[in-house]
Amino acid sequence: MDFGLVAFLAVLNLTFCIYSIEKAVAESLDGVANPVVLNDVDADARNHINMLQVKRQDQITFLHSELLDRLPGIVHAFSTRRGERNDFSLGPANSPNPMVQMNRVRFVAAIGGIGWPIIKLKQVHSGIVVDVDDTSAAGEAVEGDAAVTQLAGVMLAVQTADCVPILISHTDGKSIAAVHAGWRGTAVQIAHTTVVRMIDKFHVDPKKLIASIGPHIGACCYEVGEDVAAQIEDDAAVIRGQRGQRGQTPRPRQPGAEGSDPSDPLSPQKPRLDLGTANRRQLMRAGIPESQIETSSLCTKCRADLFHSYRRDGKSMGHLLSAIGITP
Ligand SMILES: [Zn+2]
Repeated sequence: MDFGLVAFLAVLNLTFCIYSIEKAVAESLDGVANPVVLNDVDADARNHINMLQVKRQDQITFLHSELLDRLPGIVHAFSTRRGERNDFSLGPANSPNPMVQMNRVRFVAAIGGIGWPIIKLKQVHSGIVVDVDDTSAAGEAVEGDAAVTQLAGVMLAVQTADCVPILISHTDGKSIAAVHAGWRGTAVQIAHTTVVRMIDKFHVDPKKLIASIGPHIGACCYEVGEDVAAQIEDDAAVIRGQRGQRGQTPRPRQPGAEGSDPSDPLSPQKPRLDLGTANRRQLMRAGIPESQIETSSLCTKCRADLFHSYRRDGKSMGHLLSAIGITP
């Protein structure tokens, strides 16, 4: 046989072997929980409240809450960027990119909602809470940054890339909400408004609600201007005079990132926002007991291996999706 052909076949064979091994490894990881896939996620054992669990299904890695897992009939998850590669993106909701639309369907199926319509919110950093009484918003997006429903078989979902996603359910698994809160949503207290809406509309006792605050940009990376800090009416969420929660030196910011001044270098004198704390306190003020609120300590900007981040990646960033639904 011609040497060139032999070499070509050898390379082909080797490529196939590598492909087979990668496929076998990927398949063996399906359904495996924390230790193998992501043993470094929320590994701070001192604070169990901060822990989310990791799961991999159909080659998609996502995070989920132990508290919400215990509720009857509730399916939910916070997405990561890990799919077959590290570019798994789930938004924007109206993206013309067929890959994004396919990823959204795959993600919802992987977390237990095969074929469920996804409610589309046209997120505008507002305090608007949408009542979802039918599936019309699965077609045309509805303007708002939170949604509440008692409808089964649909997925409430919010997309983020640094902002705070919050998933809420009653312990009976019959009333749910999803919230998107960036600094603007936090400033207008959308998390608080959402719980109040659940109380008014569904006549639920907030002491029976469970809330999970998903991965978002941490105080380690979320430096803002004084104008932004002044709008957060909660001193506990504004950190001054230190380098952030985890002692990390933040990397240079993306120009034009929300709430930042790109012409100004990073400075320990500038205020930082702790959006997780601000939103947790809003949920508590609305009546949810602290022991029933989980807050992820994962920072979307620090963890480039796991999350998309607007401040890190700029406007070309991908999107994370946080979703919750009621099994029919
Ligand atoms: Zn960070």
